[in-house]
Amino acid sequence: MKKFFLSLVCSVGSMYAAQWGYDKHNGPDTWAKLDSKFKLCNIGMKQSSINIESNKTTESRNELHLLHGTNSKDIVNNGHTIMLQFNEAGGLVYQNKKYNLVQLHFHTPSETQIEGKSYPMEMHMVHKDSEDNLLVLAVLFQKGQNNAVLNNILSYAPMDIGKVYQMDMIYISQLLPKNHGYYAFGGSLTTPPCEEGVQWIVLKESVEASQYQLDALHAILKDNARGVQPLNDRVILSAP
Ligand SMILES: [Zn+2]
Repeated sequence: MKKFFLSLVCSVGSMYAAQWGYDKHNGPDTWAKLDSKFKLCNIGMKQSSINIESNKTTESRNELHLLHGTNSKDIVNNGHTIMLQFNEAGGLVYQNKKYNLVQLHFHTPSETQIEGKSYPMEMHMVHKDSEDNLLVLAVLFQKGQNNAVLNNILSYAPMDIGKVYQMDMIYISQLLPKNHGYYAFGGSLTTPPCEEGVQWIVLKESVEASQYQLDALHAILKDNARGVQPLNDRVILSAP
């Protein structure tokens, strides 16, 4: 698999490159035209995210172990999302390969759809193995109980773009559902340059956040979700 430039996933640096965004003049339909480096956003055949139809999946025999810790370092509003950056925060094991958590960020509404349905929010936990292969663990949020860790994140969530703030420790596991059943498929970054070769794992069980929390994050992020992309010949694995 290719090496990726993690800084382009959703970084402070990327906002100073081509001015991609989610508005009519710079939104997903225009990305490929904004910069030749973004051409995969248009012509890629394994783009993310997708609509998952559970009756068109294949049983997965791959084990997934989530081993996230309690560390957190920086929080930044990079102009595209609110992102937490991590150092030594543990990670996960998938197909016997260890991936470390590098950063997590949010999209409102969700980018992933399940049976054609969107969720009010989606969290992307970006992981990297020792060879810089990327794995995105996606968690869907629905309206319900207040989430304590989201409160902590909201108390820091910066409005000023590009400024990095230090955060307290957070319990990353409190952002995850109890059940770790998942859908897995090959995909891409959902932001320019839309690089492919990214392993995607979408957890089936969603996590609750209060309406206030969902509204507060949406007020900062606005609509920052790319539309669903064609599945093409990809297989979606499903584990209960
Ligand atoms: Zn994302």
